[in-house]
Amino acid sequence: MQALVWQGGQEFSMQSIPKPRAERGRVVVKVTAAAVCGSDFHLADFKEKAPLVPGHEVCGVIESCGADVLGLVPGDRVALNPVQFCGTCGCCTKGLPHLCSAYRHLGAGGVQGGWAEYVAIDAVNAHRVPDGVDDIAACLLEPMAVCYESFTRAALQPDDTVLIIGDGTFGFLHAQIAAARGVRRIIVAGHYDTRLKRIAAQVEMVPCNTHHEDLAERVREITDGHGVDVAIEATGAGSSPNAGLKALRPRGTLVIFSYVWKPEPLAMGLIHMNELNVLGSCRSLGAFDPCLELLRTQKVNTRILADVIVPFDEWPVAVNRLARDKAQVFKAVFVPRQ
Ligand SMILES: [Zn+2]
Ligand SMILES: [Zn+2]
Repeated sequence: MQALVWQGGQEFSMQSIPKPRAERGRVVVKVTAAAVCGSDFHLADFKEKAPLVPGHEVCGVIESCGADVLGLVPGDRVALNPVQFCGTCGCCTKGLPHLCSAYRHLGAGGVQGGWAEYVAIDAVNAHRVPDGVDDIAACLLEPMAVCYESFTRAALQPDDTVLIIGDGTFGFLHAQIAAARGVRRIIVAGHYDTRLKRIAAQVEMVPCNTHHEDLAERVREITDGHGVDVAIEATGAGSSPNAGLKALRPRGTLVIFSYVWKPEPLAMGLIHMNELNVLGSCRSLGAFDPCLELLRTQKVNTRILADVIVPFDEWPVAVNRLARDKAQVFKAVFVPRQ
């Protein structure tokens, strides 16, 4: 079968590789849509070894089931949770399989991902997609689920005021999910007016372009000086976690959602004096099914993020648009060539 293979650095190429087989408890999925994640360009930074087939945001149709697969049959349309767990380690037995110490993540650690004609995965990681949710929307279930998890971590309440720092894909998804979970006061901070406008067209929120507006001031205005209940850091910038901390009310919660590559020291005085909560959120736990329900009932729209849709072999188009057209492009999705 054909696959788009990472060759180290920022090099990718189409290659012929063996098609996976459905082993016990696993399914083989014919990929119909697989998205590009920012982390797919950080494989070297994450010390991944080339060659590797990336891709952990995947929708497809089950082609074959191994022995002992219950509840799924060939032909089922599924979205994949890329974090496969062992079921026996300390985290798995504590009910935290997403943090499994022996996890196998699609498109990482030598596990073949979804940028290919077929991908194999543990059957429990394949979630049936309801009619009315198309393949492009469904392949973006994984990034949606990890955003959903941020709010679960923060124990979000509908009357909370939420600040989302970041106007990228994850900012857009967090904003939609906050609104879908009943939040009425949402601030989205970012750098691109074009992106903020698109988010505002979908979600009732107050935009703040931090290039020419003061975020702290904006927060004071909107919260009568109290500060927000929940701040989500979804940029990965070193200064961003502290901007989140400064925006919080006493006992407010900052969720570190993005991986911060060049962290700055956290404002410990603020955390101490205002009794702030700082929580990490990286993957998702039980979020796929509630997210599918939000897609089915059209409370969240992931489809509108897919600005570039190209066949796998036109991957340079996707890479270029993502790199050069940040103001316009949220997501790129690969599809099979027809
Ligand atoms: Zn991702
Ligand atoms: Zn485990």
